[in-house]
Amino acid sequence: MQRRWLLARDIRKKKSRIKLIVFFLVSLLLVVGIFLALSIVTEDKQNVVKINGIEYQSTSAESIKDALSPVKFAENDATSYDDELQAHDDEVEQVNLDDDSLSQLPEEAQNALENLLDVADQAIRIKEQFSHTVVRGDTLKDVLELSGLEDDTAQKLTALYPELKKLEPGQQFYWILGKNNELEYLNWLVSQREERIYELEQGNNYTRRILEKKSIWKTEVLKGKIEGSLNKSLKALGLNSKQISQLATALQWQINTKKLKAGDKFALLVSREYLDNKLTGQGNVAAIHIISSGKSYYAIQASNGRYYNNQGQTLGKGFSRYPMRRQARVSSPFNPNRRHPVTGRVRPHNGVDFAMSIGTPIIAPADGTVEKVAYQARGAGRYIVIRHGREYQTVYMHLSKPLVKAGQAVKRGERIALSGNTGMSTGPHLHYEFHIRGRPVNPLTVKLPGVSSEMSTKERKQFLLRAKKAENQLKL
Ligand SMILES: [Zn+2]
Repeated sequence: MQRRWLLARDIRKKKSRIKLIVFFLVSLLLVVGIFLALSIVTEDKQNVVKINGIEYQSTSAESIKDALSPVKFAENDATSYDDELQAHDDEVEQVNLDDDSLSQLPEEAQNALENLLDVADQAIRIKEQFSHTVVRGDTLKDVLELSGLEDDTAQKLTALYPELKKLEPGQQFYWILGKNNELEYLNWLVSQREERIYELEQGNNYTRRILEKKSIWKTEVLKGKIEGSLNKSLKALGLNSKQISQLATALQWQINTKKLKAGDKFALLVSREYLDNKLTGQGNVAAIHIISSGKSYYAIQASNGRYYNNQGQTLGKGFSRYPMRRQARVSSPFNPNRRHPVTGRVRPHNGVDFAMSIGTPIIAPADGTVEKVAYQARGAGRYIVIRHGREYQTVYMHLSKPLVKAGQAVKRGERIALSGNTGMSTGPHLHYEFHIRGRPVNPLTVKLPGVSSEMSTKERKQFLLRAKKAENQLKL
């Protein structure tokens, strides 16, 4: 009896010991599991780096995932899935163009300009709010592309509301993107009498509101002096961020802002909307006149929506479609939704790949300043970034030899590099990116700035009359 009891007790003891061991093992597994999961999460976080607001994965996270993937992806046709900009440069030569271009100005004027451009940036980038004045030839796709949106949004909207197919120069758009970069709100100033608002509803459809306006538009001349902050003085004159942004965009090709100093005088010709004697925020800058070091600078809006100087000339000489003299075969198109064929993850292709033999000359598609010449062994290889005006950048990757230095000014058509096969590249090719306001767009379909800016003889005549009138109104 006693022995039996003892046995039963032993068995119970043994059972509880096994239970304890099992419990211990399970806990250990759990702790290890949690630890591993956490370390992968932090790894991912550490390796996502933002450049121009775009997230780039760094190589180490990539190589971990590639090593984990069961089949090595067979690269095809000189296109690499690792040809994106990586977070880390192995060698870099870079200039901060904003600082550089302002450094020759007296401190006061620097602050003034920085403030002006800051406000413009806030209006067009940071808050994901965008505005644009329609120029001749613009389609809704061209307008929305300024915020990096793909053609499908414009197609959807014009299918629902065909009136959006016909845009007129001088009309204004103001729009806001949502969290996932979808178009959430679009305001179209059709005329001084009418505004149309398109809003994204649940179910992914757009509703429309048409506002007939009872407001009054007044054309006014505003005068001031750059004092402390041009932004402040412009705001004091009642201009809002949208109009200051429009002004900054107009100035980027028209007036060499390097020449502005504190104490410089300016005069603006604006038409603005009033409701019950209050500014509504809608308006248009028709002309600006700045006197700096005894010299007059003008930016005057033509009937095509663009800005020219009082002689009808523009600084922006336009862009070539391709950054090389001879056309090359596209081996991989621009594709923001590209998926890795094995992992299935979205790996956007932010540029277009041109197949070409090593040593092919690469040319600047427009006037600009070299912002960066760098090297990434596990990414872009030798690459160059060029800035054109304030809003545009072009990027060239996998080069064999750069022919320019950071900070150097380049002219349209000038040789900037020889193509190659450096970095994570599986065959000789050029990876070419086109950025507007820091967002990559399709280089093959983007509306190129400055193109069709030439005026016809008749238009020119009309413009020169308009310019004469503006000159008289804006005397300083
Ligand atoms: Zn590429």
